Formats: sequence, C-alpha cells, structure tokens
Amino acid sequence: IFGNQNPLHIEIGMGKGKFIMALARQNPQINYVGIEKYSSVLLRALQKMEAEPLENIRFIRMDAENICEMFDHEEVAQIYLNFSDPWPKDRHAKRRLTSHQFFERYQQILASNATVEFKTDNTALFDFSLEEVKEAGWKLDAFTRNLHQDNTMMEGNVMTEYEERFSKMGNPIYKLIASFPQK
Ligand code: SAM
Repeated sequence: IFGNQNPLHIEIGMGKGKFIMALARQNPQINYVGIEKYSSVLLRALQKMEAEPLENIRFIRMDAENICEMFDHEEVAQIYLNFSDPWPKDRHAKRRLTSHQFFERYQQILASNATVEFKTDNTALFDFSLEEVKEAGWKLDAFTRNLHQDNTMMEGNVMTEYEERFSKMGNPIYKLIASFPQK
C-alpha cells in the first residue's frame, strides 16, 4: 500500500488523528496507520488529510479487537495507545486496550524490539495497565506518573488532543513503555 519497505507504526484509538498526523509529518521515513472504531471521529481526520495530504499515513475504521486479522506476524514496529477508553466496570476489563488480552494480540503483530507506548491521565487505568504488562509476561521498559515534569520521557513528546485538554486542566499525565522480551 505504501510502495516501500519503511517501518510501520500504528496508533489504536487515534480519535481525530492530531497525534499520528504530527508524527507522520515529522518522520517521512516511517509509515503510519491510525485505527479508530467510529467513522464520525475518523471523518475529522480525513478532512484534515484533504487539507494537508500526507503520503506516509493511512486510516482504518475498525474495532482493535480484530487487529490480528489486519496485520501480519511481526509487521508492526511500534504501537501507540493514547488516552484509551477506561471501561471502568470490572466486567469490561478485557475491552481496555491495555488488558493482557490486548497485549497478547499485540505480541502477534509486533516485530522484534518493538514497543507499546501508552499515555493517559486516568490513575485507575494506569495502575491496571502496569499490572497487565506483568500479567501478559511483557517487560516494563519505563514509566512515569508525571510525564510533563520528566525531562527524559518528555523528550520528543507529541501532545495528543486529550493530552492537551487534560494537562490544561492540571491533570498529571502518566506514560509507560512496554516490550515483549522473548521476541
Ligand atoms: N487518542 C486520542 C487522543 O489522545 O486525543 C483520542 C482519545 S479518545 C478518549 C479514545 C478513542 O479511541 C476514541 O476515539 C474511541 O472511539 C477509540 N477507541 C476506543 N476503543 C477502540 C477500539 N477497540 N478500537 C478502535 N478504536 C477504539
């Protein structure tokens, strides 16, 4: 589809696409795919792409539950999850994009040395995600409970739409980076 062999990075739950389009602009040597469940939201990203076409990005409207049907084994070099829906009820835990069920899916499509990067302002979801990294047998490479005060993890940070909104409200932003050690 891209007509080259450049690495592929994806964002799951991209919303209106502010974050992934900024990355695509900054890194023309990387291909990006943004995944979003709802067409009403995705439409906003498509409108932005009409105004500013970018060669190295495509969007897919789909539920990430089916992600293994979309990408080949080891096809993806990086996954971004930003301000994913918290699904606060316990019985919906497996729908959270950082549940161990989702980490197992990611494991199938990620290449060696690939990572998942996750940002949120939701304390319960972040604590849950730290546990799930362990539960899934993944390695926690780095984490912070105040990204915007952490010079190392803040390096090269691209703000998402929700990150701008919640940090303006004074909420600390959490971030973790995880990888699968056996790859
Ligand atoms: N990532 C954006 C940001 O940080 O500004 C948007 C965050 S918004 C809270 C979460 C987005 O993820 C929504 O647009 C929602 O439709 C999408 N989403 C939630 N679950 C999804 C799933 N299973 N598959 C694809 N998209 C999903």
